[in-house]
Amino acid sequence: MLLTARLAKALQLTLAVVKPDGMAHPLVLEALHQKILDNSFVIVKCKDLAWKKQDSEKFYVEHAGRFFYQRLVEFMSSGPMRAYVLAREDAVSHWRELMGPTKVFRAIYTSPASLRGQFGLTDTRNTTHGSDSMESARREIGFFFPEFSVEAWMQQEEPAFRAGR
Ligand code: GDP
Ligand code: MG
Repeated sequence: MLLTARLAKALQLTLAVVKPDGMAHPLVLEALHQKILDNSFVIVKCKDLAWKKQDSEKFYVEHAGRFFYQRLVEFMSSGPMRAYVLAREDAVSHWRELMGPTKVFRAIYTSPASLRGQFGLTDTRNTTHGSDSMESARREIGFFFPEFSVEAWMQQEEPAFRAGR
């Protein structure tokens, strides 16, 4: 892959997660994976994991006190998930766009081809997570992949990536 200087400037990493509802059927999981590949994301890291309730509470602390918080925390610790570190130009906004709106009814009516529009079950069980900014991506990648350094990847891997390794 040969990226132009302009695109390389916008090269980003983001965190994408298949939530427990998306893991429940192998065909849904496969469709989600294919969507990543079809949209020219490079899979930098990928692993399956499961959260304890405390992990879920910590990750979603910004929503503590909201009416859906307990439901969200229970759901996110209810089964396995698949986490990806994805790279491409404008990865953060591109993945958010592919996911579609947070609320599934809105997704179904306004973005039926989005991941949440296609596969989401409820506002809580909405299939996928994606970082909402580069700053969140850095923090969230660290949460899921503590051994991975975004800074080191940008310094060591990104130049090789740019050169079309
Ligand atoms: P996201 O960045 O699009 O995932 O949305 P938020 O950061 O606002 O919310 C985090 C997660 O909480 C969402 O993906 C949903 O699983 C859940 N959530 C957010 N808003 C609602 C809501 O109004 N109702 C319910 N039931 N769940 C919600
Ligand atoms: Mg969010």
